[in-house]
Amino acid sequence: MDKLGETVDLLGRLIAFPTESSASNLEMIVYLADVLSSAGARVEMQQDDTRAKANLFATIGPDVPGGIMLSGHTDVVPVADQAWSSDPFVMEERDGRVYGRGTCDMKGFIAAAVTMAPVFAEAATRRPIHFAFTYDEEVGCLGAQALAPTLRDREVLPSVAIIGEPTLMQVIEGHKGCYEYSVHFTGLEGHGSTPDRGVNAVEYAVRYVARLLELAEELKARAPATNRFNPPWTTINTGALQGGVAHNVIPGKARIDWEMRPVQAGDADFAKSILREFCSKELLPAMRRLDPAADIVTEMVGEVDGLIPMDESEARDLMVSLTGNDDVGTVPFGTEAGIYQALGISAVVCGPGSIAQAHKPDEYLSLDQLNRCLEMLGRLAGRLG
Ligand SMILES: [Zn+2]
Repeated sequence: MDKLGETVDLLGRLIAFPTESSASNLEMIVYLADVLSSAGARVEMQQDDTRAKANLFATIGPDVPGGIMLSGHTDVVPVADQAWSSDPFVMEERDGRVYGRGTCDMKGFIAAAVTMAPVFAEAATRRPIHFAFTYDEEVGCLGAQALAPTLRDREVLPSVAIIGEPTLMQVIEGHKGCYEYSVHFTGLEGHGSTPDRGVNAVEYAVRYVARLLELAEELKARAPATNRFNPPWTTINTGALQGGVAHNVIPGKARIDWEMRPVQAGDADFAKSILREFCSKELLPAMRRLDPAADIVTEMVGEVDGLIPMDESEARDLMVSLTGNDDVGTVPFGTEAGIYQALGISAVVCGPGSIAQAHKPDEYLSLDQLNRCLEMLGRLAGRLG
């Protein structure tokens, strides 16, 4: 069987593991570990606290720094409430495409990388290849965030990371970060006729939102002069505001869900410290004048760093030469790339298939895309000796 046939075969097996983020990915990880170790890789598994999920980190080639890391997430988004024409966990091939949940996002890339493992094992005499397959990317990059400190502690840190999210094999050098929060306000309930005797949680939440609006303008003013993002500044969105029960009741609870998408390192810390100070020096003292139990609790839902485009990037230069496509771009969606970049690893996003098919019913990957990914990986093998 040729490499494309082998990859399609392996992809069919990977699609059959129903690794929605809410479920365990262990069977898939153990399966991949077996395939990689048969090809000569040194494999390590890292379990999460529930022991139902794991990352897989594997290395082929010499135990030295400067390797190339092929990175992908093993979880997929849910299929519930989606109208599929066929079973999402039974891969079907039709019209030059393979259909199934995770074909493009992103088990296709994982299947191609693992199928090439024996080729890498022959070629990697000078530079190692690493495989980093993670859990819970779709719910906030939890696996990659657990893997990152263990990578940092090694003396053999890779120098390049290729994150195989679907980009139609275009080299992507940047995306914004995504920081999400829920802020819970606890006030003091009371009768609407005597507002001075209560602590109105909704009114304090509204003041917080007003501060977010000012902050959004301050972040706009901080935008770097040259920047490849659209819009080119760090944005803030207030996504939900809840609280209160009736016209004549002072609301005791309120909640704000908001997000920020930073374009540069430092913006998130800038915004967070302003908000911390605003709560501790203005809102909370005012709330607690009447009720010492009043509180504001900021719940961090997810903090995923962006991938910052760099003037000098080994990963970008390598991938432009391997794909033959120098139309380097940015994308609006987030990936694990920024987490690895923060370790000092040069990172890009480049993988088969289109983000337009990701997360949708009848998700598919074209065999032409899969083949282009295999060709890229074949050329990469040629750089390892
Ligand atoms: Zn993905």
